[in-house]
Parts: sequence; C-alpha cells; structure tokens
Amino acid sequence: MKAEEQYWNPILETLPREKLQQLQLKKFQSIFRWAYEHSKFYHKIYSEAGIEPGDIKTFDDIKRVPKIEKAMMRGIQGKDPYPYGDILSVPLEQVTEYRQTSGTTGQPVYQADTWQDWEGGVEAYCYALYAQGYRDSDRIFLPFGYNIFIAFWAYHYAGEKLGCEVIPGGVLNTEARILKMQELRATAMGATPTYVLGMAETARKMGINPPKDLFIRKITVAGEPGGSVPATRKRMEDAWGAKVYDQAGSTEIGHWGWECQYQCGLHVNEAFHLVEIEDVDTGEVITEPGRKGKMVVTTFHRMAQPCIRFDSKDVVEWSPIDKCECGRTFRLLRGGVTGRADDITKVKGVLLAPASIEEVVRSIRELGDEYEVVVTKKGDIDDITLKVELVPGQEGNVDAIRARLVDQLRLKTNLGYNLEFHPSGALPRYDAKAKRFKDLRHKE
Ligand SMILES: [Zn+2]
Repeated sequence: MKAEEQYWNPILETLPREKLQQLQLKKFQSIFRWAYEHSKFYHKIYSEAGIEPGDIKTFDDIKRVPKIEKAMMRGIQGKDPYPYGDILSVPLEQVTEYRQTSGTTGQPVYQADTWQDWEGGVEAYCYALYAQGYRDSDRIFLPFGYNIFIAFWAYHYAGEKLGCEVIPGGVLNTEARILKMQELRATAMGATPTYVLGMAETARKMGINPPKDLFIRKITVAGEPGGSVPATRKRMEDAWGAKVYDQAGSTEIGHWGWECQYQCGLHVNEAFHLVEIEDVDTGEVITEPGRKGKMVVTTFHRMAQPCIRFDSKDVVEWSPIDKCECGRTFRLLRGGVTGRADDITKVKGVLLAPASIEEVVRSIRELGDEYEVVVTKKGDIDDITLKVELVPGQEGNVDAIRARLVDQLRLKTNLGYNLEFHPSGALPRYDAKAKRFKDLRHKE
C-alpha cells in the first residue's frame, strides 16, 4: 500500500522520533507562550513558579512547567468570563463549542473551544479513524444520544471529514437502532464497550445474530478501558464478527490516543499532544517501558482553554514495542488506560486497576459480560465485593468457577474479594458509561 493510502497524514505519522520531538518542543513553546500571555489563570501559576516563555529552550525544560489539575479548574469557573473563568484565553465571542465533564468525581468542569480548536480536534480524530481502516465507502452508525458531554461528537465530525456517511442514531432505543443498522447496512459504529456488549445481547434476544445478520465490521470504542482489555475486546469481536479498536480521550485533553489496525497498543497522537508519564509517588518522569505511572498531557491545538501539563490521573505505561508494524512513529502505550491514580481506586492500601478485574471476569467463559465492584468499610478495614453473573446452565459449577476467580483475582490485583454469583440478567445494564465500580466508603 502506498503511504498516501495508509496514513491520513503520511508526513507527520512517520516523522523520525528526533524530528517529532523537535516539532513537539516547538508546539509546546507556542502554546505555553499563548497561555502565559492570554490566560490570567496560567499567567498567575507560571509567575508564582518563576517561569516564563523564554525559559523553555530544550525538551527537558518542559518538566519545569507546573502541572495543573481538574480541581484547580473547578476553583475558577462560574466567574468572569462566565462561566469559564479566567483560564479562557480568547474573547468569549470566539467560543463556539461548549462541553462539560461528567462530574463523576465532583463538580463538572466546563470546556470551551473555538471553531478552530474544534476543527483541530476533528483533524486529530481523522488520524485515528483512518488508521482503523475507515474510508469513504463506510457507513457509520452512531447508537448514541449526543448531549453536553464530549463523547462521540468528534467521531461523528471526523467520519464526515473522511467522507464516510454518518447516521445519527440518537433518540432511538436499542431495538430500533439495531433494526436501523440492519436496514441501512451500516458498516461501522462507535460506542462504549458496555453498550457494544449490551446491544449484541439485545440483538440476540430479537433473533438477530450480529455477525451473520448485520454488516458492522469495525467498531471504535471509547469512554471505558474495555477496548484495550483483551478479554473484553475478544467478547465484543466475537459478538459482532467485527474488529474492535480502542480510542482514548477526555473533555479537557481531547482525543489523544487510538489503536491502529495492528492493535499493538494505544498510539499517542504526538502531532497534537505531548504525553508524559510520571511516577505516582515521586513525580519522576518515566521514559522507559513497562513502568506504570500517571499521565500528564499537553494539547497543542486548543487555544480557548489551553491544556498544558494536565495531570489526568490516568494510569498508563509505555509499551516495550519500539515500532508498530503500521510504520507510524507515534509512541505506543501498553494496555491503554488501566486505572486512575486517585484515592477512589486505592483499596486496602493497594492501587486497584478496575481494568484488571474486568480482564479476569471476562476471561472466564462461564461468566456473563456484566459485573459490579462495591467497596465499603468495615470498621477501619476496606471490604471489597465483586458481583458477577453466571451464564445460563452454569449454576451447578459455582464452586469450580469461584476457585478460578479467586486465584485469578489474587494474581492480577493482589486483593481478596467477597464473591456474589447472580443469575444472568440480574445486574444493571447501561446505555453508555457503566457505573460498575462503587466506592461507598465515604458515604458511611
Ligand atoms: Zn500502529
């Protein structure tokens, strides 16, 4: 295949690492100067730290720039320029896009973009879809109700920019979406892993077998770690007879990572983002593969509400794979986003990666797709319960399944669990992001 057929941007996607880093330094210097000069929020932080644009001379200097985090943004919003506060770096009139975070870990954060910012994000998303094999012959179905959250908006726009036909399946219910997909012979879709599995279950109940009766051959998943959890990916691919690709992004950062057709890990879109990984305890920058840390991200293309050294608290690690078979030079993360580096996932003093629990549950064929984790406190001690569903017909095998589950969980997460077995269909189903991890420790 010729380079122009293989990559959305053949030059940037295959730039030698050294040149890529020079480009990133230049882009960092530029967004840093922009924020320093146009955002009171950033100007104050940088002035207090005694750092100014002229100080960023080498790639190494970037480490000196103070990090920001979500809590700081919450502190300024609701003030002028309303509602974004003084992080806003353009006149309010230039803002064309409003989104907000879901607020699952506190008050939502507002996010402003100019039209140019938004177009930049869509362009970045095109790299992902093109790498996943989307072409103008695709008919994309979006089984998703668009709203004030960022989810799937850029997927929609990027699909159009690639020349695909995009069908918004917004307010339809699951059954109607499946029928519409079938009727129109949609070839690709984007959804959360939870919903991809849920839809397949609904389709089967309707007497529709997705691999045979539907035409979906590519699925891009986002919003949950599932796309990079091998056991979950396999379940989705088997249920649909389609290739499933992970896509990573967030409201504040944009769409920073994706899998290509070779699925060697999550490529960081380094033409648009700088991803750094830091040791959770010491803050040391990790450049070597295989060591978990939290991700700190800079987005180069958003001017309205710059995102500079944003502490995402997502837990990631560099892949040992130096060069992906696809020929792209964008660096790879192994296993996508595997957890969150905040209190919510520290259980019994152990950093818990919910993705590891998911990998265990979904690798056991006798268990259904759904599960739920509930953390409570008994006295001073954390107590963790895992609820799973048995596949119909497995009720007599509970003891054997339990033994395997206990072993695997101990091995992958270093924790012991109370296990609850439920009949198929007993646990809650979700249309979008699942709430499978329930931390009740602070509510008691
Ligand atoms: Zn690749």
